[in-house]
Amino acid sequence: MKFIEPSFEIDNKGRTMCKNHPYYQFFITPHKSIYEEKQLEKILTCKACEHYYNNDCYFPKREIDLIERDRQRERIKCVLCGNRIHRLLTIIQSLYYEAKFNVKVPLICCDCHLSLNDQSFMQRTKLRLVGFIISFLISLYLIFYFFLAILAVKVFIIIGLIFLIFWFSMSMKDIKKILYLREGRKYYQKFISQSNVDEES
Ligand SMILES: [Zn+2]
Repeated sequence: MKFIEPSFEIDNKGRTMCKNHPYYQFFITPHKSIYEEKQLEKILTCKACEHYYNNDCYFPKREIDLIERDRQRERIKCVLCGNRIHRLLTIIQSLYYEAKFNVKVPLICCDCHLSLNDQSFMQRTKLRLVGFIISFLISLYLIFYFFLAILAVKVFIIIGLIFLIFWFSMSMKDIKKILYLREGRKYYQKFISQSNVDEES
């Protein structure tokens, strides 16, 4: 049985497309209406491809299902910001290049891709980083005074503990975001900004 080799391109919005997808011509049609853009978002996935249903793609149907499941469970994240990768095809492309050419293509979400295109990545992540740090510090300040109040009225200690668990789970999200963004900025400085300099020179 002959399998279809995927062939990829990335549009100016950072969306990975497969040229063997049955809707590829629709994907690349310029000047789409808002409705058509919404349609595109729905069908820009292997799950809307005939080769997925026929199970004749280079990637077996079962493997695609597993990758999609991991993506939805946020096990596959953007190397630059830690967000979930929005599209299955982005991951499929990276896996394909690694399997075929032994080239590791970093997984980058569409938002980061756009900020790389317009060279605003460091600026945008700096603002987001500051936002998360401020949000964390404010919540730390509030929880500190909340607990002083709870300790003064001991009867509410159980409620205080429940609130603390809730606060902790919310704050962990901020802390994770801060760590991911710090790592992403380091990754950018180490691999991406340097490669841009190399390309220009
Ligand atoms: Zn990202």
